[in-house]
Amino acid sequence: MSTVPAIPIKLYPRLTQGRFNTWRVAFVAVTQLLYFGLPWLQWHGRQALWFDLAGGRFHLFGLTLLPQDMVYLAALLMASAFGLFLWTTLSGRLWCGFSCPQTVYTEIMLWIERWTEGKPAARRALDAAPWRLDKVTRKGGKHVLMAAFSLWTGLTLVGYFSPMRELAAGLPTLAIGPWEAFWALFYGGFTYLLAGVLREKVCLHMCPYARFQGAMFDPDTKLVAYDAPRGEPRGALRKGAQPGVARGDCVDCGLCVQVCPTGIDIRAGLQYECIGCAACIDACDAVMDKIGAPRGLIRFTTQRAEDGGDARPRRPWQRPRVLVYGGLLAVLLALTATGLLNHTPYKLDVLRDRASLVREGDDGWLENSYSLRVMNGDEQAHRFRIEVEGLPGARLRETAPVMVPALTVATVGVRVAADPAAVQRGSQPLRFVLRAVDAPQRHVSADSSFIGE
Ligand code: SF4
Ligand code: SF4
Repeated sequence: MSTVPAIPIKLYPRLTQGRFNTWRVAFVAVTQLLYFGLPWLQWHGRQALWFDLAGGRFHLFGLTLLPQDMVYLAALLMASAFGLFLWTTLSGRLWCGFSCPQTVYTEIMLWIERWTEGKPAARRALDAAPWRLDKVTRKGGKHVLMAAFSLWTGLTLVGYFSPMRELAAGLPTLAIGPWEAFWALFYGGFTYLLAGVLREKVCLHMCPYARFQGAMFDPDTKLVAYDAPRGEPRGALRKGAQPGVARGDCVDCGLCVQVCPTGIDIRAGLQYECIGCAACIDACDAVMDKIGAPRGLIRFTTQRAEDGGDARPRRPWQRPRVLVYGGLLAVLLALTATGLLNHTPYKLDVLRDRASLVREGDDGWLENSYSLRVMNGDEQAHRFRIEVEGLPGARLRETAPVMVPALTVATVGVRVAADPAAVQRGSQPLRFVLRAVDAPQRHVSADSSFIGE
């Protein structure tokens, strides 16, 4: 039985080349381009993606969501979660190995480390060397670069909540608000600590998702594994066959261990520390190419194939977890899309004037007073017509349309009059309808009541 070697305290992972590494670099490039670039994008003179907490609005290109629309954001977050569960069922820990922010930022920190301290052997030697000027310069340079990068990630995060261009403009003179400074330092500090210092320890000991994602696996989930029957018995490559000595394809070069960002030896069997980054596949494929053996001694496979039973993978629609996560994801996306397509950027709140419940007007009709809060969450000003319905014979005293500028709230006092012959005593339901004059098909309503005599 193979034993799992202990993971060293400090790792010096080698850089690997290969198709999976190309994918990982592409993921780092795309995710960071989006993360750092989006807050700079402008849309009709305003930041395109902006969680304006102070103003209580979320701007998403041409769409402005108000606090009552946060259900869409909640739905999108839930859809993201089910999308991640579905992806995990299908592809195992590919999310961890390629696109998790911890992986992406650790990769960037490793690039900085390689650039300032050199290859793994040089880094080991530098760590063992006494503190001289060269070591201080290299180590100091590395930490300054990592801290600067971390701070920029922190500032970028704040830029999603506070206009990025104003933040950047205020940076040279440190003219940024205390809360902005706090969150930039807080998030930047965490990036530095988690990706620059703790690195793989976060995946091994701290990440909660790593703990429960096994519940999403099924026998057909992709995982990285060593083909032991083909690779064993391992041994160094020697010219000519040695009589009586059977040899597998593993030349015991150790490259798969040296490139592993979590420091494990995948040849010891499946281990929860494996984040599915496929660096060992790239390293081993290169070795197989050199010795003229087929690629795939370490490869993506499934538990079903490893167990050697029915090796035919099931189709996605034959896998219950895929159906459940995929179904929930499709329903959530369909509901969100339908809601957003029919989204009306207005809101109406009605408050009955409780000081004078009912009074008689000059014409003898009964009157109730209300205070209406009209929210125009659209990017342009609108004139709104207010109507009442649900109470036969009731009409508004004030009939002129109300002008509400873009992205503002107006409070309007109105009186509803009703023929005393038509209304009953006590409270009766009444509905207010708010309709844009220029787009009458877009309307919202709010329920209230009318007090008869
Ligand atoms: S890289 Fe391949 S050949 Fe080298 S030790 Fe690992 S499994 Fe064996
Ligand atoms: S064993 Fe291979 S796939 Fe797993 S973390 Fe290490 S290098 Fe990545």
